[in-house]
Amino acid sequence: MSDVELVLRSTRVITPEGTRAASVAVAAGTITAVLPYEAEVPSGARLEDLGDDVLLPGLVDTHVHVNDPGRTEWEGFWTATRAAAAGGITTLVDMPLNSLPPTTTVGNLRTKQAVAAAKAHIDVGFWGGALPDNVKDLRPLHEAGVFGFKAFLSPSGVDEFPHLDQERLALSLAEIASFGGLLIVHAEDPHHLEAAPQQGGPKYADFLASRPRDAEDTAIAQLIAQARRLDARVHVLHLSSSDALPLIAAAKADGVRVTVETCPHYLTLTAEEVPDGASEFKCCPPIRESANQDLLWQALADGTIDCVVTDHSPSTADLKTDDFATAWGGISGLQLSLAAVWTEARKRGHGLEDVVRWMSSRTAGLVGLDHKGAIEAGRDADFAVLAPDETFTVDPAALQHRNRVTAYAGKTLHGVVKSTWLRGRRIVADGEFTDPKGQLLTRTP
Ligand SMILES: [Zn+2]
Repeated sequence: MSDVELVLRSTRVITPEGTRAASVAVAAGTITAVLPYEAEVPSGARLEDLGDDVLLPGLVDTHVHVNDPGRTEWEGFWTATRAAAAGGITTLVDMPLNSLPPTTTVGNLRTKQAVAAAKAHIDVGFWGGALPDNVKDLRPLHEAGVFGFKAFLSPSGVDEFPHLDQERLALSLAEIASFGGLLIVHAEDPHHLEAAPQQGGPKYADFLASRPRDAEDTAIAQLIAQARRLDARVHVLHLSSSDALPLIAAAKADGVRVTVETCPHYLTLTAEEVPDGASEFKCCPPIRESANQDLLWQALADGTIDCVVTDHSPSTADLKTDDFATAWGGISGLQLSLAAVWTEARKRGHGLEDVVRWMSSRTAGLVGLDHKGAIEAGRDADFAVLAPDETFTVDPAALQHRNRVTAYAGKTLHGVVKSTWLRGRRIVADGEFTDPKGQLLTRTP
């Protein structure tokens, strides 16, 4: 074992066994031991005494749209990974769409990797995309190291990433199941969306009515049926409708291999508070009513929902018009996700251990990153240092993502990220960033 180079000491270290005072030893970018608080610092090692700030594993965000290359005016690896680092995220997995090219062939994956390599402040992995016409590309992409495949069941918002009908879904899922892969799905049923009133305009209530809960519920029911039939592994992206929770819970109890994520905006923002015309709150599926939100929290607590990810999906400000029908749908959450979720979690009686489980351990587990997601010997020395009781008011000018549009402007949040560490190296502290040294991650075979 290489010599210990660094010891991070805190009265509150979040480990898989709970929160305790500890000294965390690091060598060559890896945690070598979690020692008693008073443990002697090995000679030659540097001590970083964090006092009462909490040391938690760096967050793993498995749902991020970086849009690079191709729509870099919306976002890019440099800005997205800086925003992530500033928010305590040390690993992200990039969605296959909104970049040009989309990540739907091995060649396109190589293009994306080449672009990301020089700009990544944190570790970056990639999802592949399942399109109607690329079934033959799925296995090569799997072998090239994507973590799974994203599909839409209704139009995605960009022409180069068409959705799958039920027949194509079955073909793609059968192929993915044949090599033990994972299908992740934007689950809204197109027929229910078409049947809903499409009023358009600036009223949030009209937008909400245009993306009804039963569109989600139906698509999720169909996905579960396909997963059950094929004994395939599927993951429901960005769940918003609490009406789908009973059928998800029942499927899980039956042994169907389905996992579910939700997002900070569904957990912390409500339809009741969205001003008309405020399309910085637009995303699909939409932010729903506060009674719906209560049920999402309950489902996180009881394990029906597995994890929380940002679905960071920015665009340029001019695409965020005041017409909800045509405005770009997507919320930029990378930098604020930890604070937003923690602020609401603490109000509802949850601990930081819960937040770490939802935003780091479970997301790392979803994509099989066994060397991330926990503070224990043998894992990467990826950390966020958080002052959980300090507050700040969200100032768009302090955000690092490319277009400083945010649904959280003016909110007072709990939890200030003091520094973020990637493989034993401090990558940001007090708004100062080091050079990007993020690595490209591939699926562990
Ligand atoms: Zn998304």
